[in-house]
Amino acid sequence: MIKSFVKLISKNNVLEQIRYASQALPQLSSEKYNIKRKTFGTIEPSDVGYFRSILGEERVLTDESDVLPYNIDWIKNCRGQSRVVLKPRSTEEVSTILKYCNDKRLAVCPQGGNTGLVGGSVPVFDEIVISFALMNKIDTLDDLSGALVCEAGCILENLDNYVREHGLIMPLDLGAKGTCHIGGNTSTNAGGLRLLRYGNLHGSVLGIEAVKADGTVIDCLRALKKDNTGYHLKHLFIGSEGTLGLVTKVAIHCPVLPKSVNLGFFGVKNFENVLKLYKSAKSKLGEILSAFEMADFDSIDCTVKNLKLPNPISEYPFYVLVETHGSDEAHDSEKLTRFLASEMETGLIVDGTVASEPAKMQTIWNLRESIAGAGLAGGYVFKYDVSIPLKNYYDLVPILRKRLGDKALKVFGYGHVGDGNIHINVTVPQYTKEVSSLLEPYIFEEVSKVNGSISAEHGIGFRKPMYIHYSKDQSALQLMKDLKQLMDPNGILNPYKVLPDAV
Ligand SMILES: Cc1cc2nc3c(=O)[nH]c(=O)nc-3n(C[C@H](O)[C@H](O)[C@H](O)COP(=O)(O)OP(=O)(O)OC[C@H]3O[C@@H](n4cnc5c(N)ncnc54)[C@H](O)[C@@H]3O)c2cc1C
Repeated sequence: MIKSFVKLISKNNVLEQIRYASQALPQLSSEKYNIKRKTFGTIEPSDVGYFRSILGEERVLTDESDVLPYNIDWIKNCRGQSRVVLKPRSTEEVSTILKYCNDKRLAVCPQGGNTGLVGGSVPVFDEIVISFALMNKIDTLDDLSGALVCEAGCILENLDNYVREHGLIMPLDLGAKGTCHIGGNTSTNAGGLRLLRYGNLHGSVLGIEAVKADGTVIDCLRALKKDNTGYHLKHLFIGSEGTLGLVTKVAIHCPVLPKSVNLGFFGVKNFENVLKLYKSAKSKLGEILSAFEMADFDSIDCTVKNLKLPNPISEYPFYVLVETHGSDEAHDSEKLTRFLASEMETGLIVDGTVASEPAKMQTIWNLRESIAGAGLAGGYVFKYDVSIPLKNYYDLVPILRKRLGDKALKVFGYGHVGDGNIHINVTVPQYTKEVSSLLEPYIFEEVSKVNGSISAEHGIGFRKPMYIHYSKDQSALQLMKDLKQLMDPNGILNPYKVLPDAV
């Protein structure tokens, strides 16, 4: 089995290389987290026969080595036990599959690019994986309104390349863009690097087509900016992580491709100055500011060392990446260069570089985007993705370093300062319950004390249902449970995810 697992590594895909860097199979999620299988039906040879009758032989995977990658999440923390992967090509096929599964009480796990970081995209037991990989057609693009309509399995980067040819960009960008799907992005309400400028998907997604657990197709695919006709049902599917319905098509608003893009990468001496710099960037760069990201020394050091990537400036306690999107090259680059010069004078920036050439900007973005996977090369990473009021944004990193002492290799923090979203990574040689119990629920308690969110953008998935109450009160959880009951009464859609059993 391991041999065929190794065979699956794509030589050209850096994300995949990082993911499969260590060849050890993760422990089964059910054992690791002591979960009991719910009373769903068990898949029989006659069920496989039925799926083959509607999808054909090739789009029903049952060979153990073919199914294995669909059972393991990107961070190699979770492993499910599915024995069947279905690859529909149309909404009608998704609908037929779900109707059948619902009637037979067979649980399913929808999967996009499988880059999710909370274990939501892989089964826990023998749920049938429904992969959207073959639903990757673009329906329409209106280059006047910016409305793109496409199937859920389109890869984000492919969409971005496509709309760029028409003078537009996708409204979201993230390190996993070469692998993640727009359906997965929508189902997780993915944030990413430019949320500061283009807002989140509850704003950009204009319409959705989704299939309910019983196979009913819900058509909310209008590509209108304004449509106040009754309840805004699309929002139920945005961020519900495949537990209320399967997203089959998305209509999304694409902003205009900026004529001028500039990037600054700065060294900063302490976190207080990172915040001062953010305030100054908002005021001095104003409407052209498109990203304000920060990484601490250990984030960059780990990425440079583990992935052999270049750091364009010297070593500093904190790094800040500032990007601008505008329409006037001379004006925008002068504005950013003036910002750099004035903040070097105030001392907020100790050192820095500004780039507008695509290759140089790509090198800097690559360094920032690779942090998410860099820690994996050292063994195992406990990953946290929290929203915290800016004045407390970095507090948890030194607190955790002290709490863990030599039990952790590194504790580092990086993230989207503009959105109040920090990613805290704790690297260890291997997963242990001892370190896990020092981190959880401690981190979530601390986040809750400052009214933060225990999941800023990655979602709740399989890993966090038991902690959701730190961010949602009883009344909200009860309404979520009622909605789940209404839309998926047999609970077949992505079980063991998002909502805890006892609310
Ligand atoms: C290197 C790296 C960087 C990342 N950076 C960011 C970041 O900056 N911001 C951010 O928000 N996230 C980030 N992520 C997390 C991840 O990429 C996002 O959550 C992404 O939106 C997941 O998309 P996917 O297609 O891979 O979905 P998957 O991982 O396959 O699935 C995610 C969830 O959505 C459900 N799902 C998938 N497709 C559908 C569908 N069609 N219908 C219904 N449910 C579905 C799954 O069941 C699962 O619960 C990053 C991940 C990596 C590996």
